[in-house]
Amino acid sequence: MRALSNRKSETEAKIGELPILVLSHCILNRATRWWQKGKPLQKNQGLSFQILSLLSDLKIGVIQLPCPEFTFCGNPRPPRTRDEYLSLPGFQQHCRRLADEASKYLKSIIENAREPSVRILAIVGVERSPTCGVKCTPIGRGLDRRYVEEKGIFIELLGESLRKMGLEIPFIEVDLDRPEELVEKIKELIN
Ligand code: SF4
Repeated sequence: MRALSNRKSETEAKIGELPILVLSHCILNRATRWWQKGKPLQKNQGLSFQILSLLSDLKIGVIQLPCPEFTFCGNPRPPRTRDEYLSLPGFQQHCRRLADEASKYLKSIIENAREPSVRILAIVGVERSPTCGVKCTPIGRGLDRRYVEEKGIFIELLGESLRKMGLEIPFIEVDLDRPEELVEKIKELIN
């Protein structure tokens, strides 16, 4: 299938192209991150203000993805690796359903933006997440856990679903403890 252009012709781009980033849910709403007794509540409060402030300065719009872990497990829930999440009956299917819905939605955003067009700069995952990691994902079980350079469950399925629809959108990830690093990544995408 021919890839649906996420970037219209250069001429159109000069006329007007509205940049958008697609963000993992907890970048805008930390309340969905894993929490159980003993974890400081502050880690689950609010949003990543630095990221929003940057996007506002750069005039970049945002779309928020669903949180697969919270909508499946809620809170309290323990931190799990990708292998541990894959062992939860139904979780992978849940991620696949959310990924298919999100891809259809993103496709409709691109197709319906006839004028001005939109350009989805990237999908932003969360570093070290078993579900939304892009290049850094925890694997293993119990005490035998480590990080590998692989995608999380949802991000992998989202990539597959987008490809089936002929959409090419880059994936990047942010370390929520170092949101300032996203600045350079976004600047590279814009230029
Ligand atoms: S990284 Fe993904 S699955 Fe984990 S809390 Fe954030 S949005 Fe939810």
